[in-house]
Amino acid sequence: MTPNVRDRADRPSRAAPCPGGAIPEISWDRALRLIGGTEEVALACHVTPDGDALGSMLAVGFVLRSMGKRVVASFGDRNFAVPRLLRFLPGQDMLVPPEDFPAAPELVITFDASMSERLGLLRDNAARAREVIVVDHHPSNRGFGTLSLVDSTVAATAMLAEQLVYRLGGRLDRDIATCLYAGLVTDTGSFRYPSTTPAVHQMAARLVATGLRTEEIARELWDRSPFGYLKVLASALERVRLEDGLVWTHVTRVDRAAQGLPYAELEGIIDIVRRTDEAEVAVVLKEDDHGDWQVSTRSKGAVDVGAVCSALGGGGHHDAAGYTSHVSEAETMTRFRRELAKARRRSSRAV
Ligand code: 5GP
Ligand code: MN
Repeated sequence: MTPNVRDRADRPSRAAPCPGGAIPEISWDRALRLIGGTEEVALACHVTPDGDALGSMLAVGFVLRSMGKRVVASFGDRNFAVPRLLRFLPGQDMLVPPEDFPAAPELVITFDASMSERLGLLRDNAARAREVIVVDHHPSNRGFGTLSLVDSTVAATAMLAEQLVYRLGGRLDRDIATCLYAGLVTDTGSFRYPSTTPAVHQMAARLVATGLRTEEIARELWDRSPFGYLKVLASALERVRLEDGLVWTHVTRVDRAAQGLPYAELEGIIDIVRRTDEAEVAVVLKEDDHGDWQVSTRSKGAVDVGAVCSALGGGGHHDAAGYTSHVSEAETMTRFRRELAKARRRSSRAV
């Protein structure tokens, strides 16, 4: 059965909070008016997109296209390429490199970006847009557009994208559901994180009911990689260190070059490192193609790594966050430890 906005029975009941319920109706109404009055809609998600960013954007792109809109979608990476593990997502013909994104669009909708810096090269395009609708679930989002559809109580931006699909009068089909499901499973860690509420499972049921091959999606996202990944992982694990509840390692450009491995393939390493029983915080420093460190951090709940990363110029969630560091690996870790110590003092006071 395909949910439809007009079938009240299919909408989340009042008993289970409606995804996006923290967003005032007046904001949704304004979003529909802005979209309704625009022929070309430019969609943008955060740089080096994950399943939630790209999946949410493409899902909404499908509906806009079915409404007869012209749709361009992009993300502002200097080396524009869809990460290999997301190439199975349908709708990639909507994507254009950032240089082909409209310079001063009438309407931009952003997905999963907590601040304008996360738009990378598209930040200036968004700044020149007449209207910018921000669709996001990061607690650190202060609203950088002209209209915020932000609800930090939902597990994934995909939950807000699903709402937008319905409110635009769209129906879930298998393509849209595949995109939304990629977002939902990515951001809930396959329904393992505490953000996995009944509403998450209810949404998953709606998506799976369209005939999704969930096992194929899981394999694309997590269960395959080029052989070189194993070699790079081996170097990362050889260097791993455990110090006072913190487990961390790093991966250099040289490690990757030796195996011809693109940066985007490193995403899963943090999920291996963070399993360490003796650590409450896990960190992986990943050197990107420009020589900067992309820092991935995870917490088991006692420490707010989102606050730590915000203090270091990045952001994210309480238990999963990141930032970019332009100093050496050793100095990056010195600064990280300093902020971590502050966050630990704050959390011990809070207890
Ligand atoms: P990951 O470690 O998977 O790259 O990122 C985990 C989370 O941290 C992401 O969902 C995102 O919210 C946040 N994040 C990662 N890198 C950055 C960054 O450079 N800036 C900000 N604001 N958030 C980041
Ligand atoms: Mn997200």
